[in-house]
Amino acid sequence: MNKRDYYEVLGVSKTASQDEIKSAFRRLAKKYHPDVSKEENAGEKFKEVQEAYSVLSDEEKRRQYDQFGHAAFQGGGAGGGNPFGGFGGFGGFDFSGDGYEDIFDNIFSGFGFGGRSSSKSKARRGNDTLVKMKLSFEEAVYGCKKDIDVTMMDTCQECDGKGGFGEETCDSCHGSGTVTSEQRTILGSFLTKTTCPKCGGRGKTFKKTCSSCSGTGRVRAKKTIEVSVPSGVASGMRRRISGKGEAGANGGPSGDLYIEFEVKDHEFYVREEDDIYLEVPLTLTEALLGCKKEIPTLHGNLKLTVDPGCENGKTERIKGKGINSEVSRKKGDMYVVYKIVIPKKLTKEQKNLVEQLSKTDMNTKDIETFQNFVQRNAK
Ligand SMILES: [Zn+2]
Ligand SMILES: [Zn+2]
Repeated sequence: MNKRDYYEVLGVSKTASQDEIKSAFRRLAKKYHPDVSKEENAGEKFKEVQEAYSVLSDEEKRRQYDQFGHAAFQGGGAGGGNPFGGFGGFGGFDFSGDGYEDIFDNIFSGFGFGGRSSSKSKARRGNDTLVKMKLSFEEAVYGCKKDIDVTMMDTCQECDGKGGFGEETCDSCHGSGTVTSEQRTILGSFLTKTTCPKCGGRGKTFKKTCSSCSGTGRVRAKKTIEVSVPSGVASGMRRRISGKGEAGANGGPSGDLYIEFEVKDHEFYVREEDDIYLEVPLTLTEALLGCKKEIPTLHGNLKLTVDPGCENGKTERIKGKGINSEVSRKKGDMYVVYKIVIPKKLTKEQKNLVEQLSKTDMNTKDIETFQNFVQRNAK
């Protein structure tokens, strides 16, 4: 049998402290835990790590291992000269079934991992919940308070989330929440503390289980939650509302609620982050002669002067008249883009006037230069 050195398995030196051994084990156990690991042969490696740890974390067994190597823990028959024959003979670790879970639970809960729960009545944090919220353009731009209906697991009103009525001390663990059992492994049998299966570690049981939540303390319910929407939110942005997600089970804390915003477009305004673009149509004569224009902004109407000879697409920046955003903590700008609208049809009178206009010299420098090019090209 080609068994790897326990120190090598944990990746620590022969002089490693208990803290170093413990921390190496935690890291590797997390890496190779078969429920989560994507590593090849994770299950094998996990067993190997666990075995190495069970020896090196125990000073007495570590001393024996240092002296005799793996032989210290092999079955009495192996070589016949095993001075610790009393240790062996169990034929290896049993990692299947409950034994496996208990060992795992103990190791992990001892280290504050939260571990793996084989008991249904353990306290558990509620799930986080994500819901979408539709907002009008104005609600997103100015911010608002808005109610949203969410259907999710909520604290049971009947039993107040306790799961039952008439609490009494658990007669199986006498209130301690743990029971002691004998664990037989290759290293011999030893006593381990496990979570009490009857009360799930609470130390208390109920005379009567709550029928409306079947003892879980939670029921599916519709809740109305008021969401405070900051000004300047945009589609896809999320807001976390702490503790408003699903209720925890068996007295565990609630999860968080995440609101994802979906903002509708505006009929006229176009948003570019905190800036607002507005296309303002001008008649041909307004563009030619100039005019005064009343412009709607997020902060009320403004009067702007359009200079004579305004070109199509001319853009005016109005500083600070965009979104006053609580999200970015910035003030956006407003951009007014003039669009000259050419009428498709003219009345007789208009046609007359335009024809008269065309007889005047409307040539600009650009038009003259272009005409010169046309003539040169004709030769
Ligand atoms: Zn109990
Ligand atoms: Zn209940």
